[in-house]
Amino acid sequence: MTRKNEQIILAKRPQGIPNMDTFEFKQTDIPEPEKNEVLVRTLYVSVDPYMRGRMREGKSYVTPFPLGEVITGGVIGEVIQSKADEFNEGDIVIGHLGWQEFSTARSNEIRSIDPDAAPISTHLGILGMPGLTAYFGLLDIGQPKEGETVVVSGAAGAVGSTAGQIAKIKGARVVGIAGTNEKIAYLKEQLGFDEAINYKTENSIKSALKQACPEGVDVYFDNVGGEISDAVISQFNTFARMPVCGAISSYNNTEPDLGPRIQPQLIKTRALVKGFLIGDYSSQYKEGARDLGRWLREGKLTYEENIVEGFHQIPSAFIGLFRGENIGKQLVKVADRNRS
Ligand code: NAP
Repeated sequence: MTRKNEQIILAKRPQGIPNMDTFEFKQTDIPEPEKNEVLVRTLYVSVDPYMRGRMREGKSYVTPFPLGEVITGGVIGEVIQSKADEFNEGDIVIGHLGWQEFSTARSNEIRSIDPDAAPISTHLGILGMPGLTAYFGLLDIGQPKEGETVVVSGAAGAVGSTAGQIAKIKGARVVGIAGTNEKIAYLKEQLGFDEAINYKTENSIKSALKQACPEGVDVYFDNVGGEISDAVISQFNTFARMPVCGAISSYNNTEPDLGPRIQPQLIKTRALVKGFLIGDYSSQYKEGARDLGRWLREGKLTYEENIVEGFHQIPSAFIGLFRGENIGKQLVKVADRNRS
């Protein structure tokens, strides 16, 4: 039987947390690369919270996924046929490609990664977009100083676990907020966080924070928004800095989330609250990747990957992000290298 190309398309725009009806599996022929294109066999697919925003209708900072079309995201693959001078068969490449087993890509849509320098999956995690997000958001906006208290929400995820460790490298006291006891143990025992709070079991996040941050909060790296962030902001010190990285607690809301009015607290503390997108730092990616790579080699930085195997697991891995199923970077392994 001729080998087909399995794909995942956006079947419905989800209301609330996406479910399996959001997605549809489809089979097509394996595409033929044209001149200046390569055929890529998918090895790893990254599932990321921001993709939930693309499932909505209406323009945001990224365009919505069209209904009925293949969902796209971060993919690592192997070139299995090349009609582009820059790439050879066997090259390992990364790009924004489809949730499908085979993709064609123009040479300017992908770049090669060195499979011998680090495990290739790390280019979708600690050495890739999430790692760089933590690096630039924390260091450019948060600017943690030795002895300051840094709070990180979504602390056991891909971005949060990196942000917290970088804050430790900079000599800060780091407090993480996450949703399971296993994650709390991971933050304290594996990553060296000074304190960690389980927001799902604490009666009052504010009281837990007061206890964990007796000298107040100087930097808050926010991945989640909502009530967790309301509580952290209430503990801000004068001139606190808050890189607003993500607001996953509201991504599945159908109505806008209302909260306390924070302006008086911001005036009192003269806090800096700044949203950012990783793309803002694209001209500095090399510098960030160099530091992250060096810290990894020096053992100052560590990482966890939650890798599920099998193309069909992509939707459930994505949905799992909103249920807190992952520690570290959530990935789906679709195929091994060098096997057709
Ligand atoms: P992640 O943290 O690895 O995975 C998502 C985690 O969010 C889950 O494991 C879960 O952990 C937590 N979560 C889910 N629903 C929640 C809720 N209602 N309240 C609180 N926590 C909840 O994902 P990531 O890729 O590292 O991304 C983290 C955040 O950064 C996301 O908000 C994402 O959109 C944002 N981001 C922004 C940029 C940018 O350019 N600004 C780039 C990358 C990522 P718990 O068990 O702790 O609940």
